[in-house]
Amino acid sequence: MGIVAAGLFVAVFPGNIAQLTEHRDAFGLDTDRGRVIRLFFQPVLIAWALWATDAVGARRAGACPGGIVPPPLDADVDMTVPTLALNDATTIPQLGFGVFQIPPESTKEAVLTALRAGYRHIDTAQMYGNEQGVGEAIAESGIPREELFVTTKLNNNNHDPADVKRSLRESLDRLGLDRVDLFLIHWPLPTVGDGDFVATWRAMVEAREEGLTTSVGVSNFQPDHLDRIVAETGEVPAVNQIEVHPYFTNDAAREATRRHGAQVEAWSPIAQGAVLDDPVLVGIAGDVERTVAQVVLRWHIQRGDIVFPKSVTPARIEANFALFDFALSEDQMAAINALDTGDEGRRGPHPDVMDIVPD
Ligand code: NDP
Repeated sequence: MGIVAAGLFVAVFPGNIAQLTEHRDAFGLDTDRGRVIRLFFQPVLIAWALWATDAVGARRAGACPGGIVPPPLDADVDMTVPTLALNDATTIPQLGFGVFQIPPESTKEAVLTALRAGYRHIDTAQMYGNEQGVGEAIAESGIPREELFVTTKLNNNNHDPADVKRSLRESLDRLGLDRVDLFLIHWPLPTVGDGDFVATWRAMVEAREEGLTTSVGVSNFQPDHLDRIVAETGEVPAVNQIEVHPYFTNDAAREATRRHGAQVEAWSPIAQGAVLDDPVLVGIAGDVERTVAQVVLRWHIQRGDIVFPKSVTPARIEANFALFDFALSEDQMAAINALDTGDEGRRGPHPDVMDIVPD
């Protein structure tokens, strides 16, 4: 691209000079000073054309080479990841990196790739079995702890209040941290045992009060689950992490979460790839000159949800981070909202019946 532009420039520039020579007296081009000015500026302008066209091309491709956030294309565009306020006076980066289904032996490399690309928010869980790899990547990255936001989640076999702090301490050992930023009840499990997720929630709040985690929240809580923990404890979770993507917009749970003053975290934001061939999304991606994944992730960002796409593919990890130099119009947002298929669009289990508890 840059070479083509420079070629055009070289071809056109002498032509312009030729035209100008008819008026060279007026422009002073046939003086020694005019020749010196031309000799100096022509290579400078060619170098600028090469740089400018390549820089714009790289930005369009969504590249963030070396993990450095490129400068905005113009003064109105902010490429940095926004932070959202939580209801406990802390903040969370709106875009992070998810590690569900990344094998333990690949986790360190994937998280290091994400950290190099600029991600500062990592979402793991006791259930994923890869907290240690996350911890190794954090340690090796050398990034100051205060610049990172780390979430983990209580496994389904640790709902007994006596297991909450114990298991969180074990997570902290694996992560090599003395606290996490956010600790979530992974699933409510209303049909398991006495289904008393309220007692579990009280123990989560105690873990926060003891300083093992800065914030506490829940995941996969339906509106009635949220109503119950808030009514019985007076403690509102900082977030509710729920399944949300274009085929399952999950607006009832999103609205209940917001009504309680908590932030929505959208898991499986690209439906584990299931939305990527959708013709509506492919059309919008063509219109805005971005990938379908970038369009879907941008849709989440504009809806105000927190997202952490997962990938083990370095080019995708980088592209999924390049969401802040373009925007979707109201019509494009509405067209994506209209792809919702309700409960049929779920990829994961329904939280009312999910009852899988590891041994
Ligand atoms: P995602 O919606 O993030 O999709 C991940 C899949 O999409 C992978 O197969 C990945 O492939 C592929 N992919 C990623 N980026 C691109 C791209 N740019 N182009 C094409 N394909 C792409 O699914 P997840 O289920 O992983 O959800 C994200 C995170 O949400 C999880 O990692 C986890 O942190 C959280 N989560 C929480 C749950 C909960 O119950 N609380 C449940 C499920 C997820 P590849 O890796 O091969 O590149």
